[in-house]
Amino acid sequence: MTDTVDTHIETFRARFGGAVLTGTDAGYDRARSLWNGAFDRHPRLIARCGSADDVATAIAFAAAQGLEVSVRGGGHSFSGASVVENGLMIDLSPMRQVSVDPVARRAVCDGGAALADLDAATQEYGLAVTAGIVSHTGVGGLTLGGGMGWLSRPFGLTIDNLASAEVVLADGRVVRAAEDERPDLFWALRGGGGNFGAVTRFEYRLHPVGPQVHVGLFFWPLERSREALRLSRDVADALPRDANAIIGGGLSAPPAPFVPKRYHHLPGCVLILAGFGSATEHERLIRPVRETRPLFEFVTPMPYVQLQRMLDDSSPWGVLEYDKALYLDDLTDEVVDVIAEYLPRKTSPMSFVPTFALGGAFRDTDDAETAFGGSRAARFALGISAIAPTPELLEVDRGWVRSFWSALQPYSAGASSYVNFMSEYEDDRVRAAYGNEKYTRLARVKAEYDPDNVFHLNANIKPLVG
Ligand code: FAD
Repeated sequence: MTDTVDTHIETFRARFGGAVLTGTDAGYDRARSLWNGAFDRHPRLIARCGSADDVATAIAFAAAQGLEVSVRGGGHSFSGASVVENGLMIDLSPMRQVSVDPVARRAVCDGGAALADLDAATQEYGLAVTAGIVSHTGVGGLTLGGGMGWLSRPFGLTIDNLASAEVVLADGRVVRAAEDERPDLFWALRGGGGNFGAVTRFEYRLHPVGPQVHVGLFFWPLERSREALRLSRDVADALPRDANAIIGGGLSAPPAPFVPKRYHHLPGCVLILAGFGSATEHERLIRPVRETRPLFEFVTPMPYVQLQRMLDDSSPWGVLEYDKALYLDDLTDEVVDVIAEYLPRKTSPMSFVPTFALGGAFRDTDDAETAFGGSRAARFALGISAIAPTPELLEVDRGWVRSFWSALQPYSAGASSYVNFMSEYEDDRVRAAYGNEKYTRLARVKAEYDPDNVFHLNANIKPLVG
């Protein structure tokens, strides 16, 4: 720790409402840990914020001491960017209150909440907003990048349901952004990531969901992946708006009660269908899938919050991860061939290829309406995820991810990409993720709200003056 930080830390602590942790304090290692165990960074200070004022105080202290700043929400970034080495980490994770107005169908959610906090609060009233598919993910990073999940076909991305945000800017001001207040900032927050400030509150529009939803999970062994992927494509193409599909290529069958013991840990392809309409409609949807005689299935109604938690165990804290992603206009037979060729080449049993079906309400929002990186016309978002228990296995599958991704490039829907599925933020990839026009607009907003690029540990937009 530098002398000046040392000298002033007690003054900072006295002004700050939450805990300020240094490397010798209890709780420091826990607070700096990330979902992605590939990163082991040591911030000089961790400011565990309890309010927007705390965030402003921490930003001012960092500026005065020349400390680099990172903002941590739920700690699930693939890039590990939310934990700064040797700087000041603004830790929003103590801020996770959610309040719901069931009449107005609105939720106000603190910037450090996990999806589980949001889902639990909204489902008390039979309401929900689109969120991701693993409940320990943070609302902060997920929302600011876009947010896709089971409800993105019925209701659009998380950002399509964002009504307003409270943001602490680089100069310490606490401001509100909405359609009718700082619309430029509000536009940029919906897809532009953590570039514009620390969001201490998100206000979401909610929709009636559940409490029971219909789930169908089907599994085929790896030798049948071509058949499984083509079928999954056809099912996804015919989905009604109130249903969604996620395809898991290369997933290992979990040792769950619904999986016959002899298939535990067998790699294969999974199709999960979630239906938010009637049981009859769901039955009609799954009938053709059943007819292909998958190796096993799990078809059941379940509470929406259980659907949201269903994949939690397959993505445990502390695993090592490297990810690349792309959008596809279609899962053509050629694309299916590439995927089927690459799936058996992975080395770590946990590595897999999650593919989100898009369409439905995802397509309702005009591309220009938000800063979201990606075309609303794309039909699928495909991630290639190396997930490993050891650095050695991660290294091997990192190569697998890169060559797999390159092999799919000729089929990708343009160069745009989903920033939330990126592990590396090379300048040209970030620009390509948004496309030139959006990137330039984002860079102008950045120049207005964060001209010195204080918030740069993210998929960084460089401020553009003039
Ligand atoms: P953090 O690491 O805390 O933050 C990531 C970045 O977001 C930070 O560097 C910061 O720049 C910014 N940030 C976070 N919170 C704030 C805030 N309140 N204010 C300002 N900036 C902030 N994405 C989907 O769309 N759908 C999914 O279904 C999905 N599933 C996932 C499952 C797993 C297991 C994981 C690891 C990721 C998943 N993702 C999914 C990707 C996820 O959206 C991103 O990793 C996202 O960045 C996680 O946000 P976080 O707050 O947890 O992460």
